[in-house]
Amino acid sequence: MDYAKLIQSQRDHFQSGATRSAEWRKSMLGRLRAALSRSEDVILDALHADLRKSRHEACLSETGLVISEIDHALKHLKSWMRPQKHAVPFIAWPGKAHVNPEPRGVALILSPWNYPVQLLLSPLVSALAAGNCAVLKPSELAPHTASVLVQLIGSIFSDHEVAICPGGKEVAEGLLEQRFDHIFYTGSSSVGRLVMSAAARHLTPVTLELGGKCPCIVTEGAALEVAARRIAWGRFTNAGQTCVAPDYVLVDKKVKSQLLEKLGNAVSTMYGANPKASADYGRIINRRHWERLFALLGSGRVVCGGDADVDDLYIAPTVLDEVAIDSPLMQEEIFGPILPVLAYDTPEEAVAFVQQRPSPLAIYVFSNDKRLQATIAAQTQSGGVCINDTVVQVACGNLPFGGVGSSGMGASHGKAGFDEFSHRRSILWRSVQVDPSMRYPPARGSLLLLKRIRRFLLGV
Ligand code: NAD
Repeated sequence: MDYAKLIQSQRDHFQSGATRSAEWRKSMLGRLRAALSRSEDVILDALHADLRKSRHEACLSETGLVISEIDHALKHLKSWMRPQKHAVPFIAWPGKAHVNPEPRGVALILSPWNYPVQLLLSPLVSALAAGNCAVLKPSELAPHTASVLVQLIGSIFSDHEVAICPGGKEVAEGLLEQRFDHIFYTGSSSVGRLVMSAAARHLTPVTLELGGKCPCIVTEGAALEVAARRIAWGRFTNAGQTCVAPDYVLVDKKVKSQLLEKLGNAVSTMYGANPKASADYGRIINRRHWERLFALLGSGRVVCGGDADVDDLYIAPTVLDEVAIDSPLMQEEIFGPILPVLAYDTPEEAVAFVQQRPSPLAIYVFSNDKRLQATIAAQTQSGGVCINDTVVQVACGNLPFGGVGSSGMGASHGKAGFDEFSHRRSILWRSVQVDPSMRYPPARGSLLLLKRIRRFLLGV
């Protein structure tokens, strides 16, 4: 494909002004919504083929999440687009000012394989709501879903509005050589660095939604039954291949054995005695990732799970105790169905453990002590914090979602996503009725008068 030509056709369309109106934005979002509803079955089949995602899970976290993003955007678009009035200082009197959220132009959206529908289309919702054209690059590692998405996008949009370019790294690299007005990347930190340096060549702003190790702190006195269920659900949904899944648990050593027991019970309640036979349990995306995860199973003591089958790309939901801090499990984001549980003596120790590591996308705290919840949040850094639950913050469309430091930059979802794809353009209007000469050279000894006026009006 001739990327330069494609992007030029989108830029021409953008520069024609066609994408700026609320009507265009709504009609694009409406088309996407209708196509998602129409094709939901085919999409769910493709997700099952790629990740063995259950229809229930896919409905909630993929199609359902994008549809609710669209509905949220349609509901709030008018107020998001509204110019914000601002007061003008003395220097600009008489005058008026406002800030207009304006579309950036042509956006590139690069997405990963773990939530291949949500992570491609949810940024698209924000891009369209903000009045941009977009080029989409789905992940090649979820090929069934990528091919359904190519069909879907091609059937509702013209290439000069929204185009989709399937393929692997070479397609992404080809696209990244071009000049875009915004790049929205979701995926690993290592590729995030490449994306950012490619964007730097054109001074293109980027949003990077990256990964990291999300800690889950469980304090003494936490509601352990619910905590175990919510931690196990967050970790083992999508076979652990979720960027905001709790990556490891730090638990007060006084309640560790109780929590371990309840985690084991939660796993067997959700997936049965043999999770391999459960229709609700997913598979690892490919052999390379399976081998990476299988190697990690060597650490610690198995509390539940631990078995694996390469032919079926299966790794059991596994909880591990007695994992050494310097084991490979604790060095990199696990991104699979393995949950190490580490004990701490004091909450300060848990906080120090988190502080010493790169800032994650999310920190989870299970505690019934409000003061401790607040202290842990205040003394750590992360994209977000979720207290007494895991992962559900992603489904709160009105909360900005994004990382900080090594987990990324910028934010997505709702108004935050709209802002990400918008430029805040200041517009100042001046009256020509009043034009005091003291502003212009030559300065005719008016400094004293100027200072008096300044003191009178501004107090400085
Ligand atoms: P991936 O391998 O599918 O890569 C993501 C995208 O980058 C794909 O479209 C791929 O084609 C492209 N790509 C790969 N190599 C490239 C290169 N050299 N140059 C340019 N583009 C390239 O997905 P992944 O990176 O394995 O995704 C998993 C990671 O994503 C995990 O770390 C996870 O935590 C993170 N993630 C983050 C979020 C979030 O919202 N913050 C969501 C999901 C996943």
